[in-house]
Amino acid sequence: MMVENMKEAFEKVFGEGKETKMFFSPGRVNLIGEHIDYNGGCVFPCAITYGTYAVVSEREDKKVRLYSGNFEERGMIEFELTNLAHTEDENWSAYVKGVMVQFLEAGYEIANGFDAYVFGTIPNGSGLSSSASLELLVSQILKELNGYDITMVDMVKLSQKAENEYVGVNCGIMDQFAIGMGKKDSAIKLNTNDLSYEYAEANLGNHSILIMNTNKKRELADSKYNERRGECEAALELLKTKVDINFLCDLSVAEFDNVSRVLNKDILYRRAKHAVTENERVKLAIDALGSGDLRRFGKLLNASHKSLRDDYEVTGTELDTIVELAWAQEGVLGARMTGAGFGGCAIALVKNETLETVKQAIAKGYKEAIGYDADLYVATIGDGTKTLV
Ligand code: ADP
Ligand code: MG
Repeated sequence: MMVENMKEAFEKVFGEGKETKMFFSPGRVNLIGEHIDYNGGCVFPCAITYGTYAVVSEREDKKVRLYSGNFEERGMIEFELTNLAHTEDENWSAYVKGVMVQFLEAGYEIANGFDAYVFGTIPNGSGLSSSASLELLVSQILKELNGYDITMVDMVKLSQKAENEYVGVNCGIMDQFAIGMGKKDSAIKLNTNDLSYEYAEANLGNHSILIMNTNKKRELADSKYNERRGECEAALELLKTKVDINFLCDLSVAEFDNVSRVLNKDILYRRAKHAVTENERVKLAIDALGSGDLRRFGKLLNASHKSLRDDYEVTGTELDTIVELAWAQEGVLGARMTGAGFGGCAIALVKNETLETVKQAIAKGYKEAIGYDADLYVATIGDGTKTLV
């Protein structure tokens, strides 16, 4: 499958002669600020040019027919707009129905059903957030077909709610925000506490962001994710007996050091320490990037990984191996895991002239250490979700 052939692929599945529109929704990488979007922290993600596409034709009835070029074995999925309840065989359509339910609950009417052929260039389940990409894609389709007057930020919120409530993944707002609000060549400084945001030019000079997919599936990711959220809540409750805060990231590192004694369990101390120090690193990293100090930016990426490895404990052998391999290469300014962790992807900031040798060394070292291949590709920072034609 290729994006260029999507119209033909649509016609093969749904028939010819229909008027269609095409949509795109990116994936994202988080440059820095990990596991703090549910702790009221600042995060610094960007949308990438890999993403999810859809060719869509509106219908005159209430039927929705879906087909994904990434899940061909599942074939066509059909349901009625009048029945969006979960079904046993719903598979990936849960993300579509979930978004529809949120729009309806928020008072947006969905006039007609549609036929949609979906195809994504992001690896699924690798921490580049193909799920949020799909949710925003559906939001954009609904907006376009029904002519809603709705802001992207509101679509971001409805998409997150769909993932939280319908799919049942308790994610923060970062992924949907980065994907909906992404902008070419810019990263987004997002304060997850009040959703204030600013674009920052991601001027990487003669460097690239290398995405390193460990190809380790995040089996335990969802349960461990919820466990970490619980630990952060427990730490917050204890800290609240000493200081007046709403989120862990309301504390500066100095303030945290003053009150951290109340965290009587080492594990709670380390979880909270990660959140507080990571939030500080995000601010320093944004400053470093803004002043063109990429070396410093890279060092902060490294410190972020170490904190996620040692204090937050969400990395694992595969992510640690690939990041350590990256650290060892000449021309790599910094590297860290990105996304929820336990597998999935890491990123490295690499000098362009060394890209090929760095890629070869990491590919070889990873295969030798882990026994299977990693996928390595360069990310380009692109626009957020949009209607193409
Ligand atoms: P991640 O968001 O890290 O990629 P998730 O497990 O949260 O991983 O989401 C992956 C799921 O999202 C897939 O299993 C599938 O259900 C759905 N999905 C993502 N992209 C597509 C696509 N192109 N076509 C159909 N379903 C998709
Ligand atoms: Mg996801």
